[in-house]
Amino acid sequence: MADAPLQERYTASVMNTFGPPRLALARGEGVYVWDTDGRRYLDLLAGIAVNVLGHAHPALVGAVTDQLRTLGHVSNFFTTEPQVRLAERLLALLGVEGRVFLANSGTEANEAALKLTRRTGRTHLVAMQGSFHGRTMGALALTSKAAYREPFEPLPGDVTFVPYGDGDALAAAVTDRTAAVVLEPVQGEAGVVVPPEGFLTRARDVADEHGALLWLDEVQSGMGRTGAWTAFAASGVVPDVVTLAKGLAGGIPIGAVVAVGDRGSLLGPGDHGSTFGGNPVAAAAALAVIDTIEREGLLENATKVGERLRDGLAHPHVAEVRGRGLFIGLDLDADVAAAVVASGLRHGVILNATGPRTVRLVPPLVLGTDQAEEFLATWPTLLDDAYGAAR
Ligand SMILES: *Cc1c(COP(=O)(O)O)cnc(C)c1O
Repeated sequence: MADAPLQERYTASVMNTFGPPRLALARGEGVYVWDTDGRRYLDLLAGIAVNVLGHAHPALVGAVTDQLRTLGHVSNFFTTEPQVRLAERLLALLGVEGRVFLANSGTEANEAALKLTRRTGRTHLVAMQGSFHGRTMGALALTSKAAYREPFEPLPGDVTFVPYGDGDALAAAVTDRTAAVVLEPVQGEAGVVVPPEGFLTRARDVADEHGALLWLDEVQSGMGRTGAWTAFAASGVVPDVVTLAKGLAGGIPIGAVVAVGDRGSLLGPGDHGSTFGGNPVAAAAALAVIDTIEREGLLENATKVGERLRDGLAHPHVAEVRGRGLFIGLDLDADVAAAVVASGLRHGVILNATGPRTVRLVPPLVLGTDQAEEFLATWPTLLDDAYGAAR
């Protein structure tokens, strides 16, 4: 284990909400990170779909340091150029008119969106089985996983969960007292689950029939992850609310709610707030991420390298490979995902297991073809290792 003393100090001083850290990391550059013993790892997790520009990208470092040197924080009694530019930019990227609320994380973006849905005068929500929307009490109420929810019940609200991708079940659950349908256009924590063709359109129709909002959680799937700015874009559906976070500022904490049209006025003065939300450093970071994705052609890169990875991951032990762009999940034919992750670390690759047999890859969008090939050359060894250990 890298740097045992640091791990011991961690255990003694940091709350044990995450289990023991697998590595103590010291620095990063591009798609690689180094641990405190100087060992290098190819980072195919990217801080859980966050470091879209990889590590220490000069554009992000420059934007953040320049902004911090100029004006680092002002509170929401005031505004700054980066805050307004980011709101305008997000509306343009999503191709909608409306308004933006800026927060500091995914769960906070969802919490704000949840409060927005209450302003419709309705309280019932329909969410999806397998969903993950965050850990604050409101976001947790929309998250389906029993192990996350049950210790903290009662949770706020009146939420019905329906099977993800099942349009008929959705239609049966939504009523005239439903405030919103909330779903991830591609489910992340569930193991990168892409819904059947037409599901988003159906969700839009069902919501419209009952005057409910359609709220898409793009916290993980957005900001280029799927090879497009948002995962919903290809569907042609226009949602009422979109939440963004993870990749948005490339590793600087941020979250955003984009509310379309007059839904942007549902929250008014005094309804919600955040001390840090919209701060100029995070906004400048997000603007640098967006500019760099455009300048370096990273949507195209995600599409191209993602395709190569999905092809190359095929293996007799791999039952299914799913995903779009660099948002990739795969199921193994046995419960050895944790062993594959452990083998990855021994071979200098950071992977992630979302379930006993499910592995997720959410690498930086700057991952090159050569680096993808470098990983694919090791992939069969990781599987042999994991299956050998299980035998
Ligand atoms: C990670 C995630 C969240 C929560 O974001 P945090 O920044 O961890 O609070 C919400 N929704 C989705 C879809 C996510 O993947």
